[in-house]
Amino acid sequence: MRIAIIGAGIGGLAAAHDLVRAGHEVVVYEAASRVGGLASGFREPHWDWSVERYYHHWFASDRHLLGLAGELGLGDKVIFRRPTTVMYHDGRFYPFDSPLAALRFPGLGWGPDKLRFGLVGLYLRRTRTWQPLERVTVEQWMRRWTGDRVWERMWEPMVIGKFGERFAPRVNMAWMWARLHVRTASLGTYTGGFQAFVDETAEILRGRGVRIVLGARVEGIRQRAGGGLDVQASGAEAPAGGFDRVLVTVSPALMARLAPELPQDYLQGLLGMHSLGAVVMVLALRQPLSPEGYYWYNLPKSAGFPFLALVEHTNFMPRERYGGDVIVYCGDYLETDHEYFRLGQDELLARFLPALKRVNPAFEPGWVKGSWLHRTTYAQPVPLVDHSRNIPAVATPLPGLFFASMSQVYPWDRGTNFAVEIGRRAAGMMLT
Ligand SMILES: Cc1cc2nc3c(=O)[nH]c(=O)nc-3n(C[C@H](O)[C@H](O)[C@H](O)COP(=O)(O)OP(=O)(O)OC[C@H]3O[C@@H](n4cnc5c(N)ncnc54)[C@H](O)[C@@H]3O)c2cc1C
Repeated sequence: MRIAIIGAGIGGLAAAHDLVRAGHEVVVYEAASRVGGLASGFREPHWDWSVERYYHHWFASDRHLLGLAGELGLGDKVIFRRPTTVMYHDGRFYPFDSPLAALRFPGLGWGPDKLRFGLVGLYLRRTRTWQPLERVTVEQWMRRWTGDRVWERMWEPMVIGKFGERFAPRVNMAWMWARLHVRTASLGTYTGGFQAFVDETAEILRGRGVRIVLGARVEGIRQRAGGGLDVQASGAEAPAGGFDRVLVTVSPALMARLAPELPQDYLQGLLGMHSLGAVVMVLALRQPLSPEGYYWYNLPKSAGFPFLALVEHTNFMPRERYGGDVIVYCGDYLETDHEYFRLGQDELLARFLPALKRVNPAFEPGWVKGSWLHRTTYAQPVPLVDHSRNIPAVATPLPGLFFASMSQVYPWDRGTNFAVEIGRRAAGMMLT
């Protein structure tokens, strides 16, 4: 078969791997000038490794991703470390990435709250049954089982931080289960950065005959009179005979625009998916920020922080990889009409930098050597109650057209591991 894949993110590349191995002719159309999508990176001339545009790490439980890396012969270049994640309480930060650290965390006192918090954590880690959990909101479930205080002190700031005031009260409990169930304290990356991983993957695929066309923005997908599908792309010549199968890996909203011939109910399903964008500022600093060497800071908005996550990447990977620069991310998930999507880089820096002084009072703006602003309108799907009923099918009603996006990996939260899983699942369906 002749197969087109729209998008050379990790999902598209994983699908291409299986499709070309099965003996098919595969063309990948990618709008950007590089492969990797949301997991792609950038590199300054004096850095040996690239830095992800949006902070990224793998978990030790990411079996789909690690399995693909192994199949490609790249597994030896995956590196795991155990950097420290911290939570804020009363003006200070405390480690919060192990049962012992959680036990020591002062934010819950020493009474029954801590016990309930621990037991609920243990239950969510153990139980595999997530389906009943999607029928209630995180708030309803947590208030019931951990109590109001634990909800208000621990979980509510986290859910509001991630989904905002509008969606937070409606997010379902299966989302929280999925995060607590599979995530590990050991975190992984790739020698050279995620961009090296996707570049090397793309090179292997090209060697097997996959054609990856960069700078090719797909504008429409239409059914052909005699069967098959036509792909219209700017910046690329589409084959005259069209394609037998097409896999699209972009956002649901864009999918609806690209394939308007989809039946109304499928289109409505796509347009009914909620998601948030992300705004992430990457900073190169002259000296380390975290006095204690912490990697990941969870920042509650209620304490006046202007963004959600502060990530000192060089407390995960050594700064020598980046020519001695200290790499720090300031990131947030936001609705796309938020002013952070309109403000210029200098205006955003002026909003963000004061927060760094709260992490390290010695911080001065003069420490900043460079900054890079990355924004995307599709970053985080929002799973509301009974979400599984609303997920668009991977095999669309249009013959030969398939769709695999972050919005469909539910109950899992989006991640490169699940991009591999759904990309390969879609490839399997395309072959039957
Ligand atoms: C802030 C942030 C932090 C994250 N942190 C992590 C993490 O720590 N660990 C982790 O595993 N995952 C993380 N993720 C999630 C991870 O990046 C995604 O789940 C994964 O990369 C999605 O891959 P994909 O192939 O499904 O989609 P994408 O990466 O979005 O790929 C889709 C591709 O389609 C291309 N495209 C779009 N429109 C067109 C068009 N019209 N024509 C042609 N091409 C088009 C895009 O350029 C893109 O390359 C994070 C994401 C964000 C935003």
